[in-house]
Formats: sequence, C-alpha cells, structure tokens
Amino acid sequence: MERGSNIAGGLRAARPRVVLLAAAAVLAAAVLGNGRISLPTVHADDPLTVSGTPSVQNSFPTEMVFTIDAASSAGNVTDVQLHYTLVPDPNQHSGRAEFDPAPSVHAQFHLRTSTNQLYLPPFKAIHYYWTLVDAAGNKKQTDAADFVYADPRFKFKQITNGNLTLHYYNGSDSAAQNILSVGRQALDKASQLDGAPLDFPIELVVYGNQAEVAAALSHESKSVDPNILGQADPPNIVVLDAGDLRGAENEDTVRHELTHLVNARATRDGVDGSLPLWLDEGLAVFGQQDPGGFRDAVNQAIARDQVVPLRNLSPGYRGSNPDVFYGEAWSIVHFLVGTYGPDKLAKLLAAFDASQSEDQAFTAAYGMNRDGVYNAWRKSVGLSAAAAPNATQAPPARNAAAPAPSAVGAAGSNVQATQPPTTAPVRSRPASSSSDSTVTVVLAVAGVAIFLALLVIAITGGLMLSKRGGRPS
Ligand SMILES: [Zn+2]
Repeated sequence: MERGSNIAGGLRAARPRVVLLAAAAVLAAAVLGNGRISLPTVHADDPLTVSGTPSVQNSFPTEMVFTIDAASSAGNVTDVQLHYTLVPDPNQHSGRAEFDPAPSVHAQFHLRTSTNQLYLPPFKAIHYYWTLVDAAGNKKQTDAADFVYADPRFKFKQITNGNLTLHYYNGSDSAAQNILSVGRQALDKASQLDGAPLDFPIELVVYGNQAEVAAALSHESKSVDPNILGQADPPNIVVLDAGDLRGAENEDTVRHELTHLVNARATRDGVDGSLPLWLDEGLAVFGQQDPGGFRDAVNQAIARDQVVPLRNLSPGYRGSNPDVFYGEAWSIVHFLVGTYGPDKLAKLLAAFDASQSEDQAFTAAYGMNRDGVYNAWRKSVGLSAAAAPNATQAPPARNAAAPAPSAVGAAGSNVQATQPPTTAPVRSRPASSSSDSTVTVVLAVAGVAIFLALLVIAITGGLMLSKRGGRPS
C-alpha cells in the first residue's frame, strides 16, 4: 500500500498552451487522419509531432525516467533531448534520450539520482522540457513541466509556513506544527544574521527512524556515518530522521540543518564551498537553542588551553576532535555576534561571497585577520594571546588526565562557568553526524590519518604526547 500513495510526487505538468482555435484543431485532427488531437502540436502541418503527454516515472531513490513518444512524417526522428533544471538552481542540464531512430519513436531519459556524480534528495523539483529533431531538420520543443521527486515509500503530509514546507509521515499533526514553527524561526533568525533571505521554496523532509531515512540520504553521508541522522542539501532541502517530531534534540537538529541552507545562500555556495567549514558549523550550532555537549567540550578545551587557532579548525580537525571543533566554532561565532554585532557578521559572509580569502574576509569585517580574531576570542574567554601565527601547532590530543578546569568561562560571556567540566556531550550526535556531503569523506580519511600520526607520535615520542596534550604552545 505504500507504493502508489505518492501524493506529492505526481506530475505537475504545466498545461500545454492550446494555441489553436477549436475549428483549427478539428481541421488538424482531420489532416492527421487519426481523429486524435495532439495538444503539443502547434501547427497542423507540422511533420514532427508528440503523441500524448510526456511522462515521468518515479523510481526514488534510484532514478526518474522521463518518457516521450514522437513521430515525424518527414523521416526518422533523429534527436530527442531532455533539458532540465534542478529547482531553484537556474543552471540548465541536457541529456540525450535513449531510442532507436525511426519515423515513430518511444524515447526515454534516465536521470539517475544516486550515483557518485549526482545525488538528489527527496522532494527535489525538476523543471524540464523536451526538444526533438527529425531527419529533415524539423525541430520541436515541448512546453515546460515540473516534476517533484517525492519518496513514494511513505504517505507524506505537507504543511507550509511562508516558503518553508515540512514533509512528514510520522508523529502527530500538532508536533509537526511545532517543528514547522521551529524551522520557520530558525530560517528567519539565520537569514537576519547572515543578511541573506532565502527567496525560494525550502523543503524540510523528516522521516520516522534511521532505517527509513537511510535510503533518502547520499551515499557519501552514509558511507562516512552509517548512523547519520540527516543532512542539509543546499540550496533548498534538509533531510532528517526526526522520530516522532518531539523533543528539544529534534528541534535543534532542525535549527542546525536549516541554518546551513541560509549559510549556503549567503555565500551562494554549497556547505563545502567558499565558507570555511568551521564558520558554517559554528553558525549552525549558534542557530541551535542549546549547543549542549559542544559547549561542554569547548569549555573543557578552554580550561586546558587546548583550543586551536582558526587556521587549524580544519575539516581534518573536525574528523579527529569533532566536539571541540563544533564547540570552538560555536564559541567564536557567539563571541563575534555578541561583541561586534550581527551587521559585521553579515559583512563577513558578504566578503566570503565575494570569494575573498579567510584573512581578507575577516579583515574586511573586523579590521583584523584570522589570528587577530582568534586572539580577541581567546582574551574574551580568559586565555592569553597565542604565540606567533606561523607557529605550527598540532591539534591537541584528547587527554583524559588533564588538570582540573580553572578558566572555564572566565571572562567570557559566551561560555557558561556552571557547566560541568567533563560531561559527555549530549548534543554532539545530531550536529556532528549531520554531515555535509562531500567534505565528510575527506574528513574521515583525514581523521584516520591524524589518528595514525598521533599513534606514531605516542609510540615513538613517549611522554611527549602527554606533555603536548597538557599544554600546547
Ligand atoms: Zn552542521
């Protein structure tokens, strides 16, 4: 019963424009001699005709199959192409359909959506039209149509607030209303902060459990983290396991992932584009109501002076020490917004949008480069200025035997001194596992490499590791 219950994925074909008067249509039917009026036929004497309405078969998550039947009275149909855009991206793609050239053809184009080259999330909208050519050089273009690539396995319901639509099938309608409102507020907050309104439809697609969301996620995300809860697919779709839609954790995962879409819009880029990963994630955690375990992790790192310069808050570092990565990224964003205000942050993102380097962007917005910002943040949390910027600083190893925290939240408004020092991060799962596609593959590799490197250091360097872990330079 699940299949075929696809309520939102049906063909939303733009109605073919009927350009002929009724009398002309009758004439055309008579000329064609088959008694059937073919609507896409524009001229009665057009030798190249489309039979019926082009269709799309939804085989989520594998592919969409676009089909068109056409005929020519002037020879073989020789070229059939599908032209499509992935809404709201205006870039047009084209592909040749598979068919055997003949006077009458049945042509198909397979848009495979689960390959290394292309992943399309559920509820992606495709805007498309066909072009045809016959042996005599006659050409035809069909009217454009739209198809929504729904996940037909479940009977999704939709509720909308502004340009945000929540797709859900599990949980109560009232819980869904709450999630929609949480998402709406998160989008508005992030848009205001980033100075980037999301002026196209946003789809928040939530599943009832991990097994059910798995098929809807990209291979990359799944291969990096089989327990992944969700992912943001800029420009406009978030896919999540949100259980029964209730609870603070689900709400914060929604806030986090939707913020990624706004960040991507602010820099007109994907999450792995020109915006540094740490800033993208810092903003996403800042978008949460509670940074939870990430705050605990950064407080602990601050107490041990194990925080790292911005230049070292790299994808590789996320792989090796995700909780401190997210925590420090959040803390720095919190500091930047709290100290210098949201306008400067929007200016910073605009600088990244203009493809400036990280140092250029920070200088444009704050009058200081990355190291300057890092030291200002260090000061705000009660740490002394870091050493010369060129000093190569290895990411600190996790050290279970660190000294008791003494500087937790010292002078900073952005950390809470009341946080227990070594609580296991409670919020790290959703955010750190809500991975951002392509970056994560690299991260996993980098993470393993760093781990191995540290292992070698530990074996060959003896006590060196614990010293380094205790107090990095
Ligand atoms: Zn994230």
